[in-house]
Amino acid sequence: MNKLILKPGREKSLKRRHPWVFSGAVAKVQGKPDAGDTVEVRSAAGELLAVAAYSPESQIVARVWDWTERAIDRAFFDERIARAAAQRRQYLDGAATDAYRLLHGESDGLPGVVADRYGETAVVQLTSAGADRWRDAIVDALLQVEGVRRVWERSDAEVRALEGLPPTTGPLRGPHEPARIAVSEHGIRFEVDLARGHKTGFYLDQRENRLRTRGLARGRDVLDGFCYTGGFALNAAAGGARSVLALDSSAEALGLGRANEQLNGLSGVDWVGGDVFQMLRQFRDRGRQFDLITLDPPKFAPTAAHVPKAARAYKDINLLAFKLLRPGGLLMTFSCSGGVSADLFQKIIAGAALDAGVEAQITERLGAGPDHPVALNFPEGEYLKGLVCRVSGQTSQG
Ligand code: SAH
Repeated sequence: MNKLILKPGREKSLKRRHPWVFSGAVAKVQGKPDAGDTVEVRSAAGELLAVAAYSPESQIVARVWDWTERAIDRAFFDERIARAAAQRRQYLDGAATDAYRLLHGESDGLPGVVADRYGETAVVQLTSAGADRWRDAIVDALLQVEGVRRVWERSDAEVRALEGLPPTTGPLRGPHEPARIAVSEHGIRFEVDLARGHKTGFYLDQRENRLRTRGLARGRDVLDGFCYTGGFALNAAAGGARSVLALDSSAEALGLGRANEQLNGLSGVDWVGGDVFQMLRQFRDRGRQFDLITLDPPKFAPTAAHVPKAARAYKDINLLAFKLLRPGGLLMTFSCSGGVSADLFQKIIAGAALDAGVEAQITERLGAGPDHPVALNFPEGEYLKGLVCRVSGQTSQG
């Protein structure tokens, strides 16, 4: 088999089972592997460390499939995918929720492979050369998961470019059905647009936090900033909010939000198109107040280089949100930027409260649900963090 031989001492991270091999760690490539081929990764002393997928165009030159000398073949994908599906079945109530992440990349032992389940449809996103190479085996294995009848592809994530892979989207297998399908999440129905929706169609990582909003909303005036198709807003409405204002810059997302409201027999949500940064300022200037604000912005820091600018953006919206909350009000705020650690995020929120002139407490810490596991050997898998902060008073500067 083709081999990557590491420089002396560079086997350490692999011995801790971190699944990425960086190009700078490689002393030489033996053989002529093509992109996506399986290669052995060996230490300078010749010890077998892993079998991995070769990505010659990427800084991450290989991603580990396994830590033993096993063959990477169809049986390997059948096994990994069945294992992941069994794990999801353990805690998901299929009657109330039929939309969840089935495969979460490295954390499920499948680097570069994400698959989300929307009812009978699995939507696959392949972001590495190795994953791309094994598309057919992955799709076949997904079709063996109980209840999956068709597979779509949404491999249009920008990271594919780093691997030299073109975007690939559309139906792959199974009966031809419309791209818009309805799913259930804790009993609330959502229309998901498989062709045009964000990510693979829906932000599945926020499922449990949306449910939490339902539990906190009763009697409150709620603002859902960055509402997309109404995930938090509709949970607030279902939870008995006094009023719900849902804000997003995407007219298309708001259109789906309205459709979702009807689908659930809910009413009264005020869907407003606009820029959250500007709208929050307008509300401040007009003295508008809320009792619960959710802020779930897009990834402000896609890489470490964006972190300082992202930190300013997070501080800005959270500072404004603190100013709009009545005493006793709750801010449920998120960051899905991998480069912004939970620790840094908390510091940013603390700075926002200070400058807003409010005293606030953290009452809950939130993250992605159990269908987005984080393998302990792959801390990069943890990206979503959230805080619920309760405004308990004003400071003297307020
Ligand atoms: N909370 C949503 C997911 C939000 S994703 C859910 O539970 O499904 C982030 C959303 O922010 C996207 O819908 C995007 O259209 C919107 N967005 C991005 N920048 C924005 C801005 N400056 N103002 C308003 N909306 C914005």
